[in-house]
Amino acid sequence: MKRKKGTGRGLKRVLFASGGVLIVVLTAFTIKYINRLSDKAMYAYGNAGKADDAADAWREQPAEPTRALEQTDEQPVVTPLPPLTFDDGYVHSGEMKEVLAYENGVAYGLRYPVCEEEALQTAVQSAAEALLAEWLDTFGDTAGEAGTLRIDYEDGGFGALYSVLFRVEKEADGVTECKAVPWVYNKKKGEAVDAENLFADRAYVEIAEKVNEAVTKNDGTAEAGEAESVFVDRESFSAYLLTAEGIRFFYEKDSEESSVLMSYPELHTYMNVTVGGKVVAETIRELDPEKPMIALTFDDGPHYQNTPRLLELLEQYGVRVTFFVLGDRATWNGSPEALKLMAESGNEIASHTQSHKMLSQLSEEELVAEIAKARDVIYELTGDYPTFIRPPYGSYNDMVKKYACTPLIIWNLDSEDWKTKNKDSIIEQILGEAGDGKIVLCHDIHTCTVDAMEVVIPELIQRGYQIVTVRELLYYKGVELENGAVYHSSYN
Ligand code: ZN
Repeated sequence: MKRKKGTGRGLKRVLFASGGVLIVVLTAFTIKYINRLSDKAMYAYGNAGKADDAADAWREQPAEPTRALEQTDEQPVVTPLPPLTFDDGYVHSGEMKEVLAYENGVAYGLRYPVCEEEALQTAVQSAAEALLAEWLDTFGDTAGEAGTLRIDYEDGGFGALYSVLFRVEKEADGVTECKAVPWVYNKKKGEAVDAENLFADRAYVEIAEKVNEAVTKNDGTAEAGEAESVFVDRESFSAYLLTAEGIRFFYEKDSEESSVLMSYPELHTYMNVTVGGKVVAETIRELDPEKPMIALTFDDGPHYQNTPRLLELLEQYGVRVTFFVLGDRATWNGSPEALKLMAESGNEIASHTQSHKMLSQLSEEELVAEIAKARDVIYELTGDYPTFIRPPYGSYNDMVKKYACTPLIIWNLDSEDWKTKNKDSIIEQILGEAGDGKIVLCHDIHTCTVDAMEVVIPELIQRGYQIVTVRELLYYKGVELENGAVYHSSYN
């Protein structure tokens, strides 16, 4: 998406860099003075001989008003206002409310979305009105000031997150100033989400780098060093819009507004919110960081019988685990329900790829398909993309790391349930090797594994362990997550 010069928005720019104010001089500025039309007569305004000083001319009293002032000679003289209109350059997803009015010499127009949900409507309207008030204030002392203010918007969203990007355009005293102001609302939680809560701290630098990479790749014409010139920094997070496909970041390049779309799988480890709208603060429980933690993980499911049984057990003990599911199993008979149950229960759903192939032996194309298919199936069934990938057999190479788009999770405690298929051996193996920060490999397709959990889970709790998801484990242990990086536990 690129807005080009000469399309009616040629003078509009979005402000990004350095938090300063970008000012564009309007060459054909015609409004000399605007006042309340409701209670003031309109006068023609003559400024002959002042052409060189046009910017200041209107502040002075006119020499010869075309007709006598009704009140005092101090009465300022105004030209008729051009009707304030919006050009329809922005896409609105649904109904829209438009307010056109005048206040203290400023002609303004405010547009904001009309939403079905009442709480959301109230929130978006107050956000729009607050923005309007804030910008009307910038016209300062209105004596002798005049101008126009347009606030338009574009909107989008994903899952529980509704996203608006307000577009402010202020014209005053011959200059135009534009700014894009994002507003995001979590419908599930019923509250606005600011950038600080949306993006992880480290995201500012890392997403900026990714955006620069994408920009350089997208326009294909980038020369060496050009990425530098479009580098988006922390300030760039002042202009973004969540859409169904990903987050669109806006930036300025060669005096034009450009944007780049980053998909959710690319972004999700940099965000405090997962794409289905679950805020991580919700999916990460409040736990005691001082007490030992262990992450039980279950591969190769879901299984239409064993998985629901395991889920009941987990609920009974109030613990959470991570499931590395197979895309093609997720759609088996009875399994879609199992996957939905998993998602609803607060357990973590990660990918074990589509069909359990040895990834390191696949061609690039096959590898991408194995990862993408599973991701799409999981998304379709749960409304969330998988948080992590565990490559089948723990086997990976550089290409796997490159295309994972998530961190890779291996393990450092193998229950060997796949080998022994024996409840007692599984119990002995896990309890014998349990330790703080460990990630345990199990398989919820085996009945004996679920049988073993009836002993393992209460015993681990008895020993003081908190049984957690992989995300919780890595979060509480302060492990920085990186897409394509490999994690065996919280410490190696
Ligand atoms: Zn497996």
